[in-house]
Amino acid sequence: MHGLMQDWPLTVDKILDHAKNWHGDREIVSRSVEGPIVRTTYGQVHDRAKRVSNALKVLGIQPGDRVATLAWNTSRHIEAWYGIMGMGAVCHTLNPRLFAEQLCYIVNHAEDQVIFTDLTFLPILTELQAQMPCVKHVIVLTDEAHMAGVTLPGALCYETLLAQNSTDCVWGGFDENSAAALCYTSGTTGNPKGVLYSHRSNFLHTLVTMGKDVMGISATDTVLPVVPMFHANAWGLAFSCAAVGAKLVNPGQKLDGASIYELLESEEVTFSAAVPTVWQMLLTHMRENNLKPSTLKRVVIGGSAVPEALVRAFRDDYGVSVTHAWGMTETSPLGTLATPTGAIAKMDPEAQLRFTLKQGRPPVGIELKLENDAGERLPHDGTTFGRLMVKGPFVVGEYFKGDGGEILDDEGFFDTGDVATIDDYGFMQITDRAKDVIKSGGEWISTIEIENIAVGHEKAFLCAVIGAAHPKWDERPVLLVKLMPGAEATKEEFLGFLEGKIAKWWTPDDVLFVDDIPLGATGKIDKKLIRQRMADYVLPTAKAKATA
Ligand code: ADP
Repeated sequence: MHGLMQDWPLTVDKILDHAKNWHGDREIVSRSVEGPIVRTTYGQVHDRAKRVSNALKVLGIQPGDRVATLAWNTSRHIEAWYGIMGMGAVCHTLNPRLFAEQLCYIVNHAEDQVIFTDLTFLPILTELQAQMPCVKHVIVLTDEAHMAGVTLPGALCYETLLAQNSTDCVWGGFDENSAAALCYTSGTTGNPKGVLYSHRSNFLHTLVTMGKDVMGISATDTVLPVVPMFHANAWGLAFSCAAVGAKLVNPGQKLDGASIYELLESEEVTFSAAVPTVWQMLLTHMRENNLKPSTLKRVVIGGSAVPEALVRAFRDDYGVSVTHAWGMTETSPLGTLATPTGAIAKMDPEAQLRFTLKQGRPPVGIELKLENDAGERLPHDGTTFGRLMVKGPFVVGEYFKGDGGEILDDEGFFDTGDVATIDDYGFMQITDRAKDVIKSGGEWISTIEIENIAVGHEKAFLCAVIGAAHPKWDERPVLLVKLMPGAEATKEEFLGFLEGKIAKWWTPDDVLFVDDIPLGATGKIDKKLIRQRMADYVLPTAKAKATA
């Protein structure tokens, strides 16, 4: 028997409709790519997004066609995003931090017909234009005054297109399972693969993320998503802020500590979200200049594991609560958040901190399981490591164009490629990426855990641990440390700092001080590149063994 409720397709255009109708005057503030701070509202953004849809129709875009954006977080990017999706085209967010050849591969694979770009990225588009024959139009997200210096052949001016098109456009009206957006994984192994979100999956992800134990934002919040819209949809904030009517503050291209601090203060931001490296830059800026955030209450940190020192600094020095989150492009992206349960909330702050440092528990709509290489389920005892598998209505079912083949197991779970534990409070903890975990003498060593402790050393700016070949143990850990500017340290200092904090046999066999720890396109430590750079490295313990 079917239910008898209304058929109201869950399409994301309704989110912006809602924002216009019920929070039409709520502000969206952006640090524009041209420089000045620009103020607009959900009402105005809605109207301009409709003009975007009409402009795309005039350019021949049909529902299902892919339209890319190569842009920072700004109100224009939000207009393009909703304008593309509202008319049924697919918004493909391109990550400008990718290598040129990866960008080119992705654009061609997606068959993007139009690219909306910020002025910043014109040089790379000019370089690649000839290799991207599918792209018929490039629309520069700027006004005529700033088009003067644009030399890209055929480039169109965004503001001119908007002025030429009306706000009269009907959105939606299609199946909620229609594709809405496309985002490629950063391709740390093999070619990047496309995750094709549907309107329904984005809508459901939005409803879930609004929950108090998830992002928990409300109409009274002012939200600064530092996490870019091209990195897993700014963790859904371009949808959830509109859905609740939160004031939205877009940082544009300036993500350094000083610029972020300035926006936090001038716009009275209460909530923000970013990867740990961004927060590290902000903390350094605040410390060096003796500053404190005056309105910020909560930050969500994810993308890589949050170091303990970061949580303590926010909590103890600035009174800001940290929510640690885990997710991936393939999970839209939120998968788990370390928000306390009733039992954890009753614990003392130090005990609660142990849970904050884990990646957390799944909201409704996410199923998790741990399994071993034989596909057997493992216990949730907080110590047994296993492959983390995930299932739900906003989790990838297959990659765009079938890349990677069948990606779900017999029970419909997707293998995240992460290794994790789950404790008896239901808190998941990522131990490592499956490809980064160090296998020493048949046992596993978590690189993330060592890194997070090591980076708590006052002289450490960034730390990375990788496995190096060892004749007896297969692999042993090596700690790479990038020191704070001007700092000097010894190997013994760092080994002494780790002593007692990790199992003795996890102690790195070597500590190397390096000038650079490379970060990948989504702000994570690029271990693949580190391994390449260290291809000729031989452990001192391995050398000793060889000459013994
Ligand atoms: P990429 O394209 O770089 O893989 P994603 O954002 O999709 O970008 O990366 C997802 C991966 O990032 C996860 O599978 C996990 O390995 C890692 N990750 C995300 N959040 C966390 C976290 N809080 N702690 C540890 N690792 C994390």
